[in-house]
Amino acid sequence: MTTFKDLNLTKQLINALSDIGFENPTPIQEKAFPVIMSGKDAVGIAQTGTGKTFAYLLPILRQLTYSEQRQPRVLILVPTRELVVQVVDEVAKLSKYMHARCVGVYGGGNINIQKQKVYDGVDILVATPGRLIDLTLSRTLQFSSIQKLVIDEVDEMLNLGFRSQLIKILDILPQKRQNLMFSATLNEDVEMMIENYFYKPEYIELISRGTPLEKIIQQAYHVPNFYTKVNLLEHLLKHEKSFSKVLVFVKNKKIADDIFKALETEFSQEIGVIHSNKSQPQRFSAVKKFDEGTHRLLIATDIIARGLDLKDVTHVLNFDMPSKEASAYIHRIGRTGRADKTGIALSFITKLNLPMQKEIETLMKKKIELLKIPEAVEISENLTQDEKPVTRDKSLKKAPKHITPSGAFHEKKDKNKKVNLGGKRRQENLRRIAEKNVRNKPF
Ligand code: AMP
Repeated sequence: MTTFKDLNLTKQLINALSDIGFENPTPIQEKAFPVIMSGKDAVGIAQTGTGKTFAYLLPILRQLTYSEQRQPRVLILVPTRELVVQVVDEVAKLSKYMHARCVGVYGGGNINIQKQKVYDGVDILVATPGRLIDLTLSRTLQFSSIQKLVIDEVDEMLNLGFRSQLIKILDILPQKRQNLMFSATLNEDVEMMIENYFYKPEYIELISRGTPLEKIIQQAYHVPNFYTKVNLLEHLLKHEKSFSKVLVFVKNKKIADDIFKALETEFSQEIGVIHSNKSQPQRFSAVKKFDEGTHRLLIATDIIARGLDLKDVTHVLNFDMPSKEASAYIHRIGRTGRADKTGIALSFITKLNLPMQKEIETLMKKKIELLKIPEAVEISENLTQDEKPVTRDKSLKKAPKHITPSGAFHEKKDKNKKVNLGGKRRQENLRRIAEKNVRNKPF
């Protein structure tokens, strides 16, 4: 078995790894190391929980030399604030015995404090795209010394609508740089990005796309509605001792809050909720309490939970099934069964979700085991407003075809399709910076 000593790491890195308690590289770490060290562009496709963060951090830190220059040489882009904090934390652990100045910047954090940190000098900058652009526009940050770019969870970044920001950043960066991308899945959008901005990238692919981790036991209940789901969850929390660290995925913020309200009386001290309407301190606190084991349950929307490395999650519960992409299911269940642990993925599947269940099973080439709802669980007949069938008022006539409806569904005009980057001046500034770096589409 390969050990970290076989990887030509420095003593400082080996010692840091040994302090963390890691001896052997994971397969993605072993495969990525020589490729990244060679300076080539690389695309790493590995499921979450495989150690992909260290897969790019190890060679980056191995090649980082001491410098007093202030502007960053490595840029790591991630989709969420939580991931910024997580990656900064991982860098701190690995660089314990070496000199590496790592700064994390993200929207919602105090920009002046972040500006000061950047001004004080940084080797590795970890950022969300929006805040990165703000810092560039304020001239605090310059890209001219960036030698390596890592885009982590790029598919999620595109899902979240960061496309134009990402392209702006790619256009401003110096032409001569190493591009690295790590993600759990590849889709058309991601492939387009690679085609336009990467130079002959080497693909580091561990598993065929869509294959679930073998260590995850996958089970499901067919459940008719929201209130029955709540009853079932309550029953499981009361009777299943193994339910000690449960990450619950829901389709939107309202459902997250509704579950909390429904379970509040009995379990309020054991439940945390995280979604984009929560303040940043609330978000950090919810993740911390869950990770440390103070909370038994973390109710989360996809956007927030993506990429978070949570220790020893015993169960992932799809309270709501993903509604758009079957691959989201794979991302979610990857939150359990991480590193060398086994985990259980449970899904509450309604009639509406049946096509999605099929799609997921086809993608995984595997059936999800169906469990019987325990007798003691009350099957509720109550329906939420969203679940009630829509009754059409026959007295309402259809609008004649030639009249364009004024609702939210008509096609946006081209000029309105653009993501708002803050007006003409901001755009102009970005263009100037891009010109200065003499970089447009690189390859
Ligand atoms: P990631 O896929 O980067 O989110 O990492 C998943 C988990 O695996 C994290 O908790 C890491 O700390 C852990 N991990 C990373 N590398 C190793 C390793 N070589 N041996 C054991 N665990 C690791």
